[in-house]
Amino acid sequence: MSKCPHCGAEIQFNPKSKNVHCEYCGSDFNPKELKTDIKKAKNEKTLDGRAFSCTQCGATLLSFDETAVTFCSYCGSQNMIEEKMIGQTAPDFIIPFSKTKDQCIANYKKKISSFLFCPGYMKSDVIIKKFRGIYMPYGIYYFEHHGDNTNKGQKYNHRSGDYVYYDDYTIHANVDATYDGISYDLLSKFYDDYSVSIPFNYKEAEDFNPNYLPGFYADSKDVDIDTYLNDAKKIAMDDSSRFFKKHSIYSKYSCHHPTVSFQVKDKKIGLFPVYFVSIMDKDKEHIHYAVINGQTGKVAADMPIDFFKYIIFSVVLAVPIFFLLNSMPVFLPVHINIFTIIMSIVAFIIYSIELDKLNKKDNHFNDKGFSKQEINKKKSKKNMKFSYVIKFLISILLSFFVIITSPVEDYYYYGSSIIGLIFILWFFKDLITTYNLTVSRPIPQLDKRGGDESV
Ligand SMILES: [Zn+2]
Ligand SMILES: [Zn+2]
Repeated sequence: MSKCPHCGAEIQFNPKSKNVHCEYCGSDFNPKELKTDIKKAKNEKTLDGRAFSCTQCGATLLSFDETAVTFCSYCGSQNMIEEKMIGQTAPDFIIPFSKTKDQCIANYKKKISSFLFCPGYMKSDVIIKKFRGIYMPYGIYYFEHHGDNTNKGQKYNHRSGDYVYYDDYTIHANVDATYDGISYDLLSKFYDDYSVSIPFNYKEAEDFNPNYLPGFYADSKDVDIDTYLNDAKKIAMDDSSRFFKKHSIYSKYSCHHPTVSFQVKDKKIGLFPVYFVSIMDKDKEHIHYAVINGQTGKVAADMPIDFFKYIIFSVVLAVPIFFLLNSMPVFLPVHINIFTIIMSIVAFIIYSIELDKLNKKDNHFNDKGFSKQEINKKKSKKNMKFSYVIKFLISILLSFFVIITSPVEDYYYYGSSIIGLIFILWFFKDLITTYNLTVSRPIPQLDKRGGDESV
């Protein structure tokens, strides 16, 4: 850990001034000029920090100053145990925090206040205070191709009877392409959908310098860097393919998917700055995550829906619709039944879509870092809940029954519609519960290692 060269007190990196600041004597230092105590052993630099691990979920956070880690950023637990100083391989690069916590929190507040149905607990000051600046481990990939690159093409020659003759061509291109700095996070607890939403500008990465660490935390990678190698390569290939397609020679010879083969030039590890918080939901069984890019200030957060805010909004919207319907010249009570049936079907379709999303998310369809380790272990599938479906059936069958029997008295139509709409509303509550599960995660538990625990 670096100390103030003037007085020996603790120093902290300040993203605003881009200086390392000593709270005790007030001195400021340029982090690039300040001496570091990084050790070089066998050509390998090491990064020293105090490691704190969580007894609840097993996450480890590194601290680089005297402050203790009192709660876990990933599961919210207060059971953090200090391990000794640990030295691990230092990363190659670092993007220093350039946004302060206050700037980022302001961005977060702005983002969630634009969301009409945001539950109060997402905005609570207690939660917002828990945003923590963490340097997250990222894999950085470099690809290149220099020289000849060939693609197959063909061109119409002639037709003879039932046969069409084409000539085959080989299209040569002299390619000089490099892709530097395609990056993926290497932490299984930092879900890919969040890291994809807050991209970093790799051009601002600097050679690793531990003077950027004090005042912040860091996590160490638990996903192998090769996990994302092919994904990163695909980005390079897709991009160059798009570029190739612009050239008329490829369309002229019907080569619709020109490819470039890339070689891996290098792969490195970087620490990228993220403000991170986990927020427990009301039933204390799930958590939502909010992340802010410490370089750009961009926010990505789970957005659960507050059922009561939603209902109030719906009622406010429903009143004018009701009067509009009523003022229609050919309004018949049976129209309300038809409306009820349509509403039920729409709600049911939304429910099916949300359930599908939930199943995809629960099985980590989009998260390679996770799927590599977990996907073979457990495949859970949530089926439609009978208690949910029955509400939908009641509302739709009531209206159907009334339409088919076509009673004379109006109150059969109104009565069945009102009961039907109450059941739809109830079904909507289930729907919002399902939706909220799609934007939350189970509380991480200590990874059970060893043994096959297929469910
Ligand atoms: Zn000092
Ligand atoms: Zn934890």
